[in-house]
Amino acid sequence: MNKKVEKYLYQEMDRQAGILHSQKRTKIVATVGPACDNYDSLLDLVKAGVNVFRLNFSHGTFEDKSRVINLIRKINQTEPYNIAILGDLQGPKLRVGEIENGKIEFKSGDEFIFTTEKIIGTKNKVYVSYPKLSSDVKPNERIFLDDGKMEVCVKEILNDKEVLVSVTLGGVLLPKKGVNLPDTALTMPSLTEKDLADLEFIIENQLDWVALSFVRKVVDITNLKKLIAEKNSKIKVIAKIEMPEALNNLRDIINESDGIMVARGDLGVEIPVEQLPVIQKDIIRKCMHRAKPVIVATQMMESMIDRTKPNRSEVSDVANAVLEGADAVMLSGETATGNYPTLVVETMSKIILNVESSVYDYNRDDILTPQPHSPSYISDAICYSACKLAYDAQADAIIGMTQSGYTAFMLSSYRPKSPLYIFSKERSLISQLSLSWGVRAFYYAEEDSLDDIISDQITILEERGFIHKGDVVINTGSTPVEKHLPTNIIKITKIE
Ligand code: PGA
Ligand code: MN
Repeated sequence: MNKKVEKYLYQEMDRQAGILHSQKRTKIVATVGPACDNYDSLLDLVKAGVNVFRLNFSHGTFEDKSRVINLIRKINQTEPYNIAILGDLQGPKLRVGEIENGKIEFKSGDEFIFTTEKIIGTKNKVYVSYPKLSSDVKPNERIFLDDGKMEVCVKEILNDKEVLVSVTLGGVLLPKKGVNLPDTALTMPSLTEKDLADLEFIIENQLDWVALSFVRKVVDITNLKKLIAEKNSKIKVIAKIEMPEALNNLRDIINESDGIMVARGDLGVEIPVEQLPVIQKDIIRKCMHRAKPVIVATQMMESMIDRTKPNRSEVSDVANAVLEGADAVMLSGETATGNYPTLVVETMSKIILNVESSVYDYNRDDILTPQPHSPSYISDAICYSACKLAYDAQADAIIGMTQSGYTAFMLSSYRPKSPLYIFSKERSLISQLSLSWGVRAFYYAEEDSLDDIISDQITILEERGFIHKGDVVINTGSTPVEKHLPTNIIKITKIE
């Protein structure tokens, strides 16, 4: 189906514009690619419900990226949106090299050599982009090729460049396909030369979030954060969970990162695929407990890359991620290279809205109460109580203030039923918070008395039609205002 037909099918979209975007609480991350990288398409995607655009640094040039960044910034300046931009670093992704005649067929039982020397691959020898292959792998370890479509087993370490393998699951090997070593403790650095160059571009262009692929340990994140701090950047960091090693270090990685991605694509190659659903649920729960935004990624609406309706299983997959409490659901090829980018986002928004409008008591039995020994106990207790009060009073809004983002992430982590509005004088947060469940953020820099600030914020929301006369709203804030303390006040107001 071409653009015209898509427009026809969704002629209602302009009428609905903004509703899909503004009413859903679970956010949508969409990957930008050739299928949507012009102003009108990007704006259509936003109107259909996109909150965050992801730039995948595995593909494309800096010129392409700069152009897209400018288009998204233009949307933020001319339309009433604060779309965040997420730069996704490729990390130590391993690949085979070029292949003679474009493909080689391997049968189970065939043997060949993996070499770290850049050669054109043949039936006897194939290049893999992992300099330390010989020293890191051991006999009998498995190596997966092309998302696990082919499997080999290490037979013998021949020398410091070559490893003999035997094929255990045959298939056709194509150039540049991905290589996964699920059994091997990799020793290569978590940021490659390419990542460092990409990171510099990402920081220079002041993107909101940076994601790192193939995180293994906490130090992968600590190192990345150090580089970011050296450049005085405020960009926030997402750890992509797609390695078994990361699962073993999950708690610490969540604590150290600003957000998490359940990267089901590579994770589903690295671990037995049947384990994915339970792991996804566990990661989401842990992230909610630590007030860190969590994204569920990959193949959510895969069939819509070339069809106008999703598989029923995909509808359930998106709905379940929402029910489990994910902050955001992500689209990759569906929006980057698919045939129906707008339709996909719109379909996803409708699934989200449907779940959210029928699930009344959001995850309340799985909420972590504030921990008295925590250094942030006071503001945690205020955020918790504000959400509880909002629930009991059936409040029409929770209004929070933040400078670090903490209060926003914390309020959001309780997944309150009342709409959540956040005011901040930290400009970078306004778009960063677009990733966070249910949060709508506004720039606000006044420093009057708390009474004035609160009534000001209520007026701003009233003028924009978010709240109305007779509504009950809950405000959090901190006093004395000039001391900029963590959140320490709750106020409940019935709007006169
Ligand atoms: P990718 O990450 O699309 O960058 O590979 C997501 C995933 O692996 O699921
Ligand atoms: Mn991946």
